[in-house]
Amino acid sequence: RHPEDTAFFGHPHGLSTLFFTEMWERFSYYSMHAILLFYLIDSFSKGGLGMNTSIATSIVAIYGALIYMSTVIGGFISDRILGPRRTVFWGGVLIALGNFILVLPLRFVGLYVSIVIIVLGTGFLKPNVSDMVGGLYSKEDTRRDAGFNIYYMGINIGALLAPFIVGWVGQTYSYHAGFALSTVGMVLGLIQYCIGSKKYLGKDGLLPNDPIKPDEKAKVIKQVSWVTAIVVVGLLIMYFTHTLNVNNIIFIITILGILLPAIYFFNIFRSPKITPKDRKNVIVYIVVFIASVFFWSIYEQTMTIFPLVAQQMTDLKLFGIHVQASQFTGFNALFVLVYSPIVAAMWTKMGKKQPSSTSKFTIGLLASAFSFLVLLIPIAINGVGVKFSGWWLILSIAIVEIGEVFLSPSGLSLTTKLAPKAFNAQMMSIWFLGDAAAQSFNAQLVKLYSVPNAAMYFGVMGVVAIVIAVILFSMRGMLAKLIQL
Ligand code: GLN
Repeated sequence: RHPEDTAFFGHPHGLSTLFFTEMWERFSYYSMHAILLFYLIDSFSKGGLGMNTSIATSIVAIYGALIYMSTVIGGFISDRILGPRRTVFWGGVLIALGNFILVLPLRFVGLYVSIVIIVLGTGFLKPNVSDMVGGLYSKEDTRRDAGFNIYYMGINIGALLAPFIVGWVGQTYSYHAGFALSTVGMVLGLIQYCIGSKKYLGKDGLLPNDPIKPDEKAKVIKQVSWVTAIVVVGLLIMYFTHTLNVNNIIFIITILGILLPAIYFFNIFRSPKITPKDRKNVIVYIVVFIASVFFWSIYEQTMTIFPLVAQQMTDLKLFGIHVQASQFTGFNALFVLVYSPIVAAMWTKMGKKQPSSTSKFTIGLLASAFSFLVLLIPIAINGVGVKFSGWWLILSIAIVEIGEVFLSPSGLSLTTKLAPKAFNAQMMSIWFLGDAAAQSFNAQLVKLYSVPNAAMYFGVMGVVAIVIAVILFSMRGMLAKLIQL
């Protein structure tokens, strides 16, 4: 192999550029995730916006869903107009700008404007940078899954630093100072992206995969105008019928989040640009996609429900030290960082003998199931409503994260492998729509959680995840026949 092809831990040099770009993007996303809730609910005098807690929690959940939904827009822009390289660049610019707006004392106006800008920016950046990672490897290269595991560490270094640094600065000094740090981070990420991509990515990703042809332009403009018109008319109707409120918006986004992947798969199937082989790949993909939604549903609750569980059901102590409820979310990334090198080394060592994607997904789902089920133990021992040790929550997170390192990097890798050529970046968006669908669904589901029925809540969901895992596993032969997974 050429030295450039193994320059970054045995992987192509370009992986380091993409690694750090995504690290800074995630730093910004998880910073927002860490302090947004507190920024919303803290009183004006403490520098917050003084919002009601339940509305604020919903806004945070929906923010997460929108972040992943907007990858559809980013995928489209990349595939049809700009190509991944430039789309990622503009994504970074938008994210930095959105964070910068939050630095200014603009309160609600600043909040909503910046959410829109950051959501769009992330949609531009995240699917395309992941897609470019796939582009570093040929279809036969067995380093692909390991490469995604390394890339995934970048994601989680960003995710780990964010709550510790920005969370701390935001809550101790001022939220605006926290957002300033995210801005600086994203700007640094962009600078290294510009330099690194010129040096190491050659011509990769400079052109769109499926550029819009002149005769298609009118059609595309018409479609975009229709969608915009429907949204505007819908909002106006809601406004004049006095139904324009946060709860209704959240409900609509929930429906949209679940419908969107279905519409997407339908469109891909209908497209004349895909071959019979592509079609088989997409069938397989749909099955693993559905499995992933169940995984993400549980996983994302470790970021929304778990801080609540920490607050309401644990003693908030680790090693006898008091910890903030929000700080528990930092452990997700920490465990990924511990597991990833091991798993990446395992896949590299096993080469062609590594388990199929279906098996990796099954393990992922089982881990998510057990992470919820393990919480039944302290409830059973102590009784409902009695506070238990914070370590139980850490144990639960440690288990779900085994699932994440098995499922998520191989999901990314599989997506880049199975995507029909004309839908490369858009397929990557679909992968993230799995998380969006899960979070949209969660926005309603979390309402069922309360301390008295926590055992029921975690128990039922754990069992459902086991059932899905068993169904998936029993389909592995059939899926393997459809494609060589
Ligand atoms: N923790 C991962 C990330 O932030 C998982 C998100 C996902 O792939 N849905 O990128």
